[in-house]
Amino acid sequence: MNPDDIPRMACRTCTVPLSRYVDLTTGQVTYTHPLGVDVDPVGHDPDPAPMDEIDTRQVCDFCGDERIAYTLRTTPIGVVADTGRGRLVEQYGTDWSACFPCGGHLQANDLDGLSEQLRQYGPPLDRQGAAAVRVMHQAVVQSLLPGAAVAAIGRWPATPVPAGILPKVRDRLATLLGGALGLPLGLDDPQIRADVAGSVAVARLFWIDPEFTELADSAAGSLPATTLTPVDLPAPHGLLAWAHPVGPRADLVAASWSSGPHGLRVVGYRSIGAGLPPTPLQQLREQLGWLGPRVHTHVPPGAPLDATSPAAVLVATWLLIAQRLAETTPVEVDKAIRKAYQRSGRPAPEVRLVRIRGTNPTRATSAGTPRPAGDRPPTPHEYRWWVKAHWRQLAYGPGRTLRRPFLVVPQVRGPKDKPIKASTVVRMLAAAPPPPDQASRDGAGR
Ligand SMILES: [Zn+2]
Ligand SMILES: [Zn+2]
Repeated sequence: MNPDDIPRMACRTCTVPLSRYVDLTTGQVTYTHPLGVDVDPVGHDPDPAPMDEIDTRQVCDFCGDERIAYTLRTTPIGVVADTGRGRLVEQYGTDWSACFPCGGHLQANDLDGLSEQLRQYGPPLDRQGAAAVRVMHQAVVQSLLPGAAVAAIGRWPATPVPAGILPKVRDRLATLLGGALGLPLGLDDPQIRADVAGSVAVARLFWIDPEFTELADSAAGSLPATTLTPVDLPAPHGLLAWAHPVGPRADLVAASWSSGPHGLRVVGYRSIGAGLPPTPLQQLREQLGWLGPRVHTHVPPGAPLDATSPAAVLVATWLLIAQRLAETTPVEVDKAIRKAYQRSGRPAPEVRLVRIRGTNPTRATSAGTPRPAGDRPPTPHEYRWWVKAHWRQLAYGPGRTLRRPFLVVPQVRGPKDKPIKASTVVRMLAAAPPPPDQASRDGAGR
């Protein structure tokens, strides 16, 4: 029986990928929630649907953790069970997801390590359940094929990258992209890999401050169809980190781009590592780094992209920089990183902080300034507030025949030293994210 003939299914109710059982006599396929995964609501019946129709809640196949770091391949694995109803075969297939600790145990053939991880971090199992899982662990270890890859699935708590360590984060990412581990999302193609790794290695570094991040993220949602030209990009190759997570799933913390005759290639990254204990966290930083690819898109020269593109927030950020809504200042890079660059004879690392250009408080009180209805600021001005932003097409170029989206004045008005006020028109700007140390202690992962 070919396991590829049976579609992978997930539960419509809880989005967990389901285990498949095949009755050897009748050939009938049944689906159950996998052993060792907490399902919500507790005790519901599985409602199978093809996996690509559901935003699946992927978990580590070995302990149930959502923080998946690796995908691995084995020869096809099926487990035969004699039950009261007859002989059943569970088809596990060939593709496996592993959290960082389980991935390490698998690659070291460490069955006891896997069991310990499951015992400590997985759900409680009775003796029979634990024995069944061990059989599965053993089968995987024995059938493992070479070539683990970095995973783009699962869910890590999003932890923004601090500006001061961005050069180090970039160097680690360039090593990962140029290294031996497989890459997801089509990035494994040798040509693409070399292109992306090379551009990250020489990338200009940008860190987008919280207000500018909020503006770009919300403006991206209504980004009109846009054809980019090289002048729209703040640099031919770059790595840009946002002060808080962006994108439709709020899980992107950075993006890199390379441009050339082939057009534009953009990779969006999620943060990895949050919530791991100190020792595995340090190993993860050494083996994988801070960032993992989450989305990848190639834009051929002249092709338009819009709000539905995985690169939408990056493009909105560029357009706002290009239309001079932004000002950039150098950021102080961590002393240890600067020294390390100096020791290896590299030029001092530069990170550019991008923030919204200075405000003009006098305009806020002038009589002619239009204000959104119901958004009258208190007097005297105790707050700053946003005016609702919208895109317009701006004519430019020879004979003003070209069009480029231009975000119309989402100004921050009011005194610069005051907090920004929530309004009925525009949602409140997010508070500054917690420092990564605190975020990892909170460990939302499990
Ligand atoms: Zn379910
Ligand atoms: Zn695991």
